[in-house]
Amino acid sequence: MKDKTLKMTIIFILTIILSFNNIQTSSANEILQSDDNILDVLVINSYEESDRWEKSIVYGFTKTMKELKPEGITVDTKIEYLDIKSRPDKEYVDTFLNLLNTKYQYSDIDVVFAIDDAAFRVVKQEVLNKDSVLYKKQILFTGVNGDIEVSNEEKQYIKGIGQSTGIEIINLILNLHKDVDTINILLDNFTYSKVIKEKIKNSTSIYLRDVKINFIESNYIEDILNQLQKVNKTKQAIIVTGVFKDKKYIPLDKTIDDIKKISLSPIYTTNYAYTTQGVIGGYIDRGEKQGEYIAKEIYNIINGNSTNFTILPHASGQYVFDYDNIYEYNVDISKIPKDSQIVNNPFNKPLISREGKIALQVSIFIIISMIVYSFKYFVEQRKREAKNRKLYERAKEREQLKTDFIVNMSHELRTPLNVILSTTKVVEMKVKNKTHDDLYLLDKLEQINKNSNRLLKLVNNLIDVTKFENGSYDIKLQNLNIVEVIEETVLATVDYAYCKNIDVIFDTEEEEIITAIDKHKIERVILNLLSNSIKYSNENASINVYIKKEDKNVYINVSDTGIGISNDKIDEIFNRFYQVSESLRKVEEGSGIGLCIVEEIIKIHKGHINVYSEVGKGTRVEIVLPINIIATNIQNKQITDLKQSVMLEMSDVDTKN
Ligand code: ADP
Repeated sequence: MKDKTLKMTIIFILTIILSFNNIQTSSANEILQSDDNILDVLVINSYEESDRWEKSIVYGFTKTMKELKPEGITVDTKIEYLDIKSRPDKEYVDTFLNLLNTKYQYSDIDVVFAIDDAAFRVVKQEVLNKDSVLYKKQILFTGVNGDIEVSNEEKQYIKGIGQSTGIEIINLILNLHKDVDTINILLDNFTYSKVIKEKIKNSTSIYLRDVKINFIESNYIEDILNQLQKVNKTKQAIIVTGVFKDKKYIPLDKTIDDIKKISLSPIYTTNYAYTTQGVIGGYIDRGEKQGEYIAKEIYNIINGNSTNFTILPHASGQYVFDYDNIYEYNVDISKIPKDSQIVNNPFNKPLISREGKIALQVSIFIIISMIVYSFKYFVEQRKREAKNRKLYERAKEREQLKTDFIVNMSHELRTPLNVILSTTKVVEMKVKNKTHDDLYLLDKLEQINKNSNRLLKLVNNLIDVTKFENGSYDIKLQNLNIVEVIEETVLATVDYAYCKNIDVIFDTEEEEIITAIDKHKIERVILNLLSNSIKYSNENASINVYIKKEDKNVYINVSDTGIGISNDKIDEIFNRFYQVSESLRKVEEGSGIGLCIVEEIIKIHKGHINVYSEVGKGTRVEIVLPINIIATNIQNKQITDLKQSVMLEMSDVDTKN
């Protein structure tokens, strides 16, 4: 029982689905005359096969039909040419109709597509003729002028698109150019120009406002320009329709250029070929569009969506504008019809008003500036950060050097002070107990003296460094024999070196080199270099001091066979408070200021220092001083005691041995 009910329900549902499908199919196929699912379209052209306008309509039609591909239906298109221009008389038309009746007697024509007036009129007279193969067929047409008369019965079978009337281009200009009161239409003597002239003449009653239409007609550009020059210069607009020549036809862009040379009026066109040649724009009938429109209408009829109309007057035309010329002629963008085609706009730039365009350009400029500025700021910030990091590292390094210096300095100060204090104590006890002898006391006093000198050197160096820092270190130059000054200084240190079994050898290429120096300061330099060489050399080493003259310079080389300095430290040793650390350091006592003072003194003498060294092999310090004679050789009043200086500079050399 249950099974039976289920079966019944399924059959019922299937029946409903099938019958619904049937309704759909029958509505879709209403237009088809037979059940073969082939849509037979008969296209009838007014003119002959080579007519470009009709060709473009057929092209648009077949192309769109292929694209739409009505489902389950094959479109079969046959094309006939009435060729009315060959014989526009009744006898010829009747023969043509006879031919159609014979040719299509056994075919099922579903749709007739009549292109242009002549074809339409021939087809229309057959639609209610029982004997015709066109009897009660669906007729679609394009390019027919608006003045056709269709009876109510005929209306059931006829629909199509009218031609543009000429009013569109005129009203477009009147709407876009408020001051225009005259429109000059440039025509040649061909049919297309004649058609346009007719249309415009017939449409005057429905223009937006009163306007004078001035037809300028000739095949020759010279005539056209001459006539154009004669018209009033202001409140004019131009429509170029014809194609003109001088000896031969001239390119369209040249025509527009020539017009622009004699007139500032806005230029429009009705001819598609002109739209990219320098005009502002125009209203153009486009055959391809008309064919496309008819194909879509057939598709709608097949699908039962056809709208109820007889003639759509302007469906095929299109407003076209040139992107650059819109701005060149300052056209109000807001008044340009919405569905206009914009040509000469390869990058699809948006169509915005001049003010909007300026605002957009300003915005883009601001955005780019901001990006550039942010980028620059970012780069500069990074640079600043890197610089700050460097400064911080340097400050940290200097801080470390200062800390090292203070630690070292405390040690430096404490060591001689301890020696002085303990020696004084011992001497005091010996004297109190009367257990002293003279030799013992002299030895102790010498120790006290040497350590006091060490303290004094340290304090002197510190004072000098401070003077360099605040720029108050001054020198007193005298023209002196620098060879003699250095030789005396070297000789005065021999005893100190001897205590460490170190030989000091002095050699010179010149006996006399007179140059302006501060004697005392140069002595300090040499003593400092020698004290370093002694301090940083082991026993039995040797120290060489060598002088030579080259060009206008004197070269003083102090070389030793001591412990040497590693390459990476050479540049650092002139830094204040710098001492080579780790294993190389603390071989001898020192404060790390000596070479800093040496360099400053040489700089004040306008010279420079080079250091060549190899770890374990020795060091050569080369001083290069320019030879310089001063005019006013003021006698240096400063009394310098070389012995005292040597004692001071050598005070940190260990002479225990
Ligand atoms: P210091 O008082 O410590 O000797 P200097 O400024 O004279 O200070 O020298 C700086 C550092 O350079 C020294 O601590 C030492 O490590 C290194 N130095 C200078 N001269 C020599 C040299 N002739 N041989 C090896 N190292 C040297």
